[in-house]
Formats: sequence, structure tokens, C-alpha cells
Amino acid sequence: MNLMNPFQIESPYEEIETARRGRMVIALCNAGILFSIPLIVVMTIVMLPQFTPAMLLVYGLCIGIIPINYLAKRIALAGKPDFGSYILIVYFLFLLAINSVVMAGISPMLVPGYILLLVVTGMILPPSRGYIVVVLASSMYLAVTLIRTHVTPPVIVPQPAIEWLLAFLGVVTFIFVVFINQLTTRDLRKALDSATYDLVEMNKKLELASERKSQFTARTSHELRTPLSAIMVFSDLALRDAYGPLNEKLRNALEHVSNSARHLKTVINDILDLSKIEAGGLEIFDEPFELTDLVHTVESACLQIAEEKDLSSSIWVSPKMPEQLSGDIDRLAQILLNLTGNAIKFTEEGEVEVRIEPQGTSKWRMIVRDTGPGIPEDQFATIFKAYRQLDRTASPSKVKGTGLGLAIASNLVQMMGGDIGVESELGVGTTFTVTLPLRLPETSDEEGAKVLA
Ligand code: ADP
Repeated sequence: MNLMNPFQIESPYEEIETARRGRMVIALCNAGILFSIPLIVVMTIVMLPQFTPAMLLVYGLCIGIIPINYLAKRIALAGKPDFGSYILIVYFLFLLAINSVVMAGISPMLVPGYILLLVVTGMILPPSRGYIVVVLASSMYLAVTLIRTHVTPPVIVPQPAIEWLLAFLGVVTFIFVVFINQLTTRDLRKALDSATYDLVEMNKKLELASERKSQFTARTSHELRTPLSAIMVFSDLALRDAYGPLNEKLRNALEHVSNSARHLKTVINDILDLSKIEAGGLEIFDEPFELTDLVHTVESACLQIAEEKDLSSSIWVSPKMPEQLSGDIDRLAQILLNLTGNAIKFTEEGEVEVRIEPQGTSKWRMIVRDTGPGIPEDQFATIFKAYRQLDRTASPSKVKGTGLGLAIASNLVQMMGGDIGVESELGVGTTFTVTLPLRLPETSDEEGAKVLA
């Protein structure tokens, strides 16, 4: 814990903030040198008629503003703006305190003068350092008041001159607070404006490039599917001996061709689907379907593979679910197949369970649970992004994939007005839950309501 900086907040803008403070100190020093000239003139006019050793001290301190500002500026330019502004502010605190002690009539300037210095402190120094100045200013103020009650000031300043000085101080305060703040941030704001403009332009270009990429992928994937279908159809026909009997070697080779073509087709379909989604060209249908059809699709596609891996697998449908629903059965099957396929793919032992059940009266959900390796919590958001996979180089099983399945599933769920979520514990397993609005076919509205009741 940093006790010295209780107000310090870690921020990516810290560097900009330090640069801004540095520029303020430099601007303040330049202004200080400029303003010390009229100040010295005013002081000369005020004090010339009563020249004393005490006044000489005050006079010397006023002239000292020039070298002190110059020194503070050099320190700020050398990269230590906070130290430079300390020197400057403390010098001014002393100057005002000594003036108030030495000159009768000056003391009304002490309070506004100290307030000005505290405002400048707040503008330039980080709050954690500014409190030292606040403590110093308060103790000096008390000391001056104490001395003033016991010592009669040697120099008398006439009332009209004090009023002029107060007015001068008011103008200086305004200039310090408004103009210095504006001047020192003007080019930073300009830079920010132009950076924002560049970003907007870049964003437009990227959007266009991404749209073109999606169109290109969609077109190419489509072109790839036609010859691929031909490979699949003709190798299947050959495997069914449509072109005469095959010897063992040729049959093995053709089976390999057919399996590879099928795998390639799923990959191309996934790429095509994602391109369509990104280009906003994918349509979700809303038609009545039987829930058992959805269950059978998943059973026939996945559960056999689970058996081959010696995993226990089950699909449970709540009796409270209506038999008929309305929606896009093909896309729903795609979501469920992607999740169940992953569960089986990543699980080496244990079980994979699919549950379909209502959630309240207006939603239903599909839950896919496995006893696989699990997903680290900090990766929950990443796995739903396209082409993203977990680094499983350390894992013994090298499972294949494109990183598209979950991205497609989550996009489809979103388009259906639903939600997808994941819970997981490393080494224990993962549960994906898809929650969707319950839509019943118009004719079976009453029936469905009865089931859910
Ligand atoms: P793919 O399975 O083709 O790699 P997905 O988008 O379906 O792509 O999944 C992204 C990543 O999320 C996977 O590569 C895997 O690392 C992780 N993942 C998905 N489902 C599971 C699961 N049931 N168990 C463990 N990890 C999973």
C-alpha cells in the first residue's frame, strides 16, 4: 500500500496527466515572470515615499520572483514539474506572509492571496502532494495573524493602493485559473480531436474491409461446396458399388475421401454461416416443429460418438415441455449439436447430459453438461468469439476444431432473442445453458399453456 499517495489512482492516462502538469508549471512560470514586472512597478509606487530596511526586504522578495520562476521552469523542463511548482508556491506563501507582517494594510490580501495559491496548488500538484502545501499555508496564516496582534508593522501602505493591489490580484487569479488551464490543454485537446477523427475514419475503413471479407468468404465457401458435394456423392456411390465391386484397398481409400469431404463440408458450412451472420444475411425461420425431432437429431448425430468414447450420455426432456414449439428447428439443432459435440469432444471420461426444460412460463432452456476438463473463468467471454480456442497444448488429447462452433451458437441464440451462458470448474466439468423465449405454434397455444401450468 502506498501511504504517501492515498489519492493515487492507477490510470492509463497518468502519463498525459503528468505531461499536463508539467506544461502548467511552465506556463505558470512564464506568466509569473511577466506579472512580476507590473507587481514590482506597483510596489515601487506604493513604497517609494517611505523607504525603510523592512521595505527593502519586501522589495527584494518581489524582484526575487523572476529568478525563482526561472528556476522552477528549468526544474519542470528537466522532468520534475511537481518539485518546480513546490518551490514556486512555497516562495509565494513566504512572500505574502512577510509582506503582511511588514506592511500595515497588506493583510487583507493575505486571505485572497492564499486562496489563489491553494487553487493553483490544486490545479498543478497531485492531490496527494498538495496537502503539504495546505498544511504549510494554514500554519503560516496562523503565524502571521499571531505576529500581527503583537507587532506593529513598520511600513504603512495607503488604503487606495491596497484596493488597486486587490483588484490586480483578482485579475491574476482569473488569468491563472482560466487561461493557463486552457492554454496548457489546448494542443492536447487538438491532438485528442485529431486522434478521434483518425479512429472514426479507420473504423469506417475496417467496417468496409470486414464487410468485403465476409462477402468474399461467403462467395468462396459457396463455390467450394458445389465440387465438394460432387466428391461426396460420387465417393458414396462408389462405396455402394455403383461402379462395380471395389477391392479392400480402394474401399479404404474411398472411405477416407468420403469422411474427409464430410468434415470439410462442416467446416465450410460453419465459415459460410458465420459470414452470413456477420453480413446480416442469415434468416431465422419461425415454423412449428416437434420437440422430439430436435431430440432425435442430436441423439443420432452425437450419442453414438459418446458411446464410442465410453462416455455415458443422456437426453432428458421435461414432461412439462410442450410437444410442439415454434421456431427454426435447423438452427436450434445446430446450436444444440455444437454444444453437445463440444461436450463429447472435450470429455475423456464420465458423462455428457442434455436437459430440455421450461423456465417459468415464457422461456425454455437447453442445458448441456459434461465432466470434461473445464474452462478457466477468465476465458468465458473469449470462447464465444470467432476463431478462438483455449490453449490446450499441455492437454494430453489433441482435439481438432476451428473455434467457430460457439461463436455461431451464441450469434444464433442472440438472433432468436435468447441468452447463452457457461459455468465451469477446471477438472470437474462444464455446463452451457441456452435460454430461449418460449414460442408455441398459434394453434397449440392453449394446449402448451396447459402443459406448462
Ligand atoms: P472448436 O470446438 O471448433 O474449437 P468452439 O467455438 O466450439 O470451437 O469452442 C471454442 C473453444 O472453447 C474450444 O476450442 C475449447 O477450447 C473450448 N470449449 C468449448 N466447449 C468446451 C467444453 N464443453 N469443455 C471444455 N472446453 C470447451
